[in-house]
Amino acid sequence: MGLRKTGGALLAATLLGAGIVVGCGGNDGVEPADVVLRGGKVVTMDGERRIAQAVAVRGGRIAFVGSDAEAARRIGSGTKVIELGGRMLMPGFIDAHLHALAGGRALLVCDLAYAPLTRTQLAQRLQACLDATPEATPDTWLEAVNWDRQSTASLDGDPTRALLDGLVTKRPIAVTSADFHSVLANSRAFALAGIDAATPDPAGGKFLRDGSGKPTGICEDAAGFQLKAAIPPDSEADQLKQGRAALAALREQGITTFMDAAADEAHLRVFKALRTAGELTARVNLAINLDPATANSAPAQAIAQAKALAARADAGDAAPAPGVAARVVKVFMDGVVNAPADTGALLTPYLQNIGTEAAPQWAPGDNLGQLYYTPASLQALMLAAADAGLDMHLHATGERGVRTVLDAVAATRQARPGADFRPAIAHAETVAVADYARFAALDVMATMSFQWAQRAPYSIGETESHLGAERFGRMEPFGSLQRAGARVVHGSDWPIDPFDTFLALKVGVTRAGDPANPHSAASFAPVFEGPINADPALSRDAVLAAATIHAARQLRLERQIGSLEAGKFADLIVLERDFLTVPDEALGRNRVLLTMVGGQVVAGREAFAGTVPPQRAALSSGVRVLSPRGSTGHAIPAQVPGAPHGHGDRHRH
Ligand SMILES: [Zn+2]
Ligand SMILES: [Zn+2]
Repeated sequence: MGLRKTGGALLAATLLGAGIVVGCGGNDGVEPADVVLRGGKVVTMDGERRIAQAVAVRGGRIAFVGSDAEAARRIGSGTKVIELGGRMLMPGFIDAHLHALAGGRALLVCDLAYAPLTRTQLAQRLQACLDATPEATPDTWLEAVNWDRQSTASLDGDPTRALLDGLVTKRPIAVTSADFHSVLANSRAFALAGIDAATPDPAGGKFLRDGSGKPTGICEDAAGFQLKAAIPPDSEADQLKQGRAALAALREQGITTFMDAAADEAHLRVFKALRTAGELTARVNLAINLDPATANSAPAQAIAQAKALAARADAGDAAPAPGVAARVVKVFMDGVVNAPADTGALLTPYLQNIGTEAAPQWAPGDNLGQLYYTPASLQALMLAAADAGLDMHLHATGERGVRTVLDAVAATRQARPGADFRPAIAHAETVAVADYARFAALDVMATMSFQWAQRAPYSIGETESHLGAERFGRMEPFGSLQRAGARVVHGSDWPIDPFDTFLALKVGVTRAGDPANPHSAASFAPVFEGPINADPALSRDAVLAAATIHAARQLRLERQIGSLEAGKFADLIVLERDFLTVPDEALGRNRVLLTMVGGQVVAGREAFAGTVPPQRAALSSGVRVLSPRGSTGHAIPAQVPGAPHGHGDRHRH
């Protein structure tokens, strides 16, 4: 009651609310709240999209949503009152697809953040990272990520190991490029890896060499993997640090629930340990990654193994205090549609240049990309998952990958009519127009990473040419899918990209990056400004729904979280600026000022810094990250345990 509606019923609803306040003044019969947040614009994201002023929290749940006047009745002597000062309050963000330990790991290494660096600047940045870790032993590797090799090369030429050998350190150093195809290493790293002039180039890779055959320092593709194989695997203590760093980044961004989209034993161990220690500040959902070999040849066995792991991880019914759930299996259907990989499974071939570089002529070749499951093997696997009570999250980037999933869901729906099975297709970057309506008809969620609908090095140029104008013109079809009735869900895929929820939501609304946001490709060069193509965008309400109530449904938590309604868990965030009214260009420059999970404030800044309990604040101050402002991206070192993907290119999401 007392809630305003956004639409035409505004006046009537306000009057009704006012009448009730007059009639029910006083505290009689109402239990005092633990916390009241008041004086704000409360965007509930409930079914009627009501807007309120205040929220009362009791026992970790929302006790009341409505007017300030009514909330006043819930304030007792022990109630903590948080004044919102007119700011927007909404349900906590739910990130339905990310890679938590890999993300935490990327925060803990040296992030070059795609900056266009001269060789001197590159050396300065690396020295700063070395200087920031004085406790590291001479044998501790310095790993740096997100190096823009092309920029350095065009500014003043490719660097060599001599540049790194000139740094003040004895440590081995490996610098991985943002496009993931190159590693620059120092002489100590080459020595530890046992690579010298006598070492042959591996298949699928190359050591750049000087006239005498000695490696210059840059290792391309498989040669980079060979060098980095010398880096010791992460210990369990390292993984715990990665989990802590990830949780710190999540609560700063206002993400109160997430799904790890390629979980294994390490995720289970880390997040259960953090829960036991009382350090869990987000609801953890694990999608158990299936081994493709077993899943293809012995689907029942693969599902039984995943079910056993899920049973050990899952803590049962969700409660206000955050826990760990595991009710989803993860399947990779195909590769990636980005050039030069061209491994996403398409219905018609990738184009290839049959002209010259100066006068290119693009024509279909014979590459249709790769499908990692036959239709029959996927159907067997999906039926086994549905029968085991596990939902399925399927990576599919190409239209043939997507169609094969939809066909398997159709078969599953037919075989098990009425079963509450909730499949989601992750990415769905290219979808045949004829398949748009099948998402709604088959109740398949589309879990998209909105930021990919910006012009970027990975989306235009070669990728545009290889897909061809028609297919590129409908790339990232989240708006078209929604118009066809699909439930669109947001997943950041962090750390494949910089972790920036508001930038992603902004691209969802405008299909263009933000030249003023350093996480956006549009900040690098004018060629990356403007919309990616003419396919439709989403409304502001739709992107918020994708990151709240729709994401909750993917996780079977729509009755507990995803909107602000009495009885639901008190997961909420306060924004610096009103997402519903800021100008389009400012959508991606917002910030979360307060994050509450299960009624506990887990992060707060500026006016809300004092709302964080001291023991919680101490937790965050114990997390030291090398990367600035939680900025990371494309940063998963290859062949590192816990790295999300098996397919060997940059977009290993
Ligand atoms: Zn993926
Ligand atoms: Zn992913």
